[in-house]
Amino acid sequence: MRTIGILGGMSAASTQIYYRELCALTRERLGGLHSPELLIRSLDFAGIEELQAQGRWEEAGAVLNREARLLERGGADLLILATNTMHKLAAQMMEGVGIPLLHIADATADAINAAGLKAPGLMATAFTMEQSFYTDRLREAGLAPVIPGEADRAEVHRIIYDELCKDITTAASEAAYVAIAGRLVAQGADCLILGCTEVGMLLNAGNVAVPVFDTTLIHCATALDRALA
Ligand code: GLU
Repeated sequence: MRTIGILGGMSAASTQIYYRELCALTRERLGGLHSPELLIRSLDFAGIEELQAQGRWEEAGAVLNREARLLERGGADLLILATNTMHKLAAQMMEGVGIPLLHIADATADAINAAGLKAPGLMATAFTMEQSFYTDRLREAGLAPVIPGEADRAEVHRIIYDELCKDITTAASEAAYVAIAGRLVAQGADCLILGCTEVGMLLNAGNVAVPVFDTTLIHCATALDRALA
């Protein structure tokens, strides 16, 4: 089994889901006392969020690059970056790094294409929904992403940073997310990407009318496929 390097802490709430999910999947696939070979680097999200909010992306990319190099030196055979938003900096992160990065948008697009779906609604941070680094990657994979309207984008973003990243889930926010997902379906979405690694704390196949693609769970399953290949 290869060692998966997880660059996480963005936020810590979702890195815990990665750890739990990778352990559960490994047990399911290998049985017995098997557990995944992992190196988890969990950053202090407060500093990262400040760089994001101030648009200091170059500095944030330098942090990711330093950490990716350390994970490689520590023995990781492949890397996953446990946040959709920070994939904006994937190229800078991987400068001078010799092991592969399993890109979260590619893994998700592959899953959607395999299901024969075309028009995923996207619920994510404002950075991910409004900038092109993520939606262009989906378009390059042949998909036509459906983005929420302005007020809905602001609300999805606010709940991520004010609540989910702090491990807070409320019935009111779940209802808000369910309503936004419904409006995406009304706009023509044939499935839904939970395009932020915390959104699965509120949405899943049980409360969304179309097929749900949870980037966290897809990322874990694909990483484990690679680690066991
Ligand atoms: N985990 C989130 C994501 O998948 C948001 C936190 C961050 O900005 O990294 O985009």
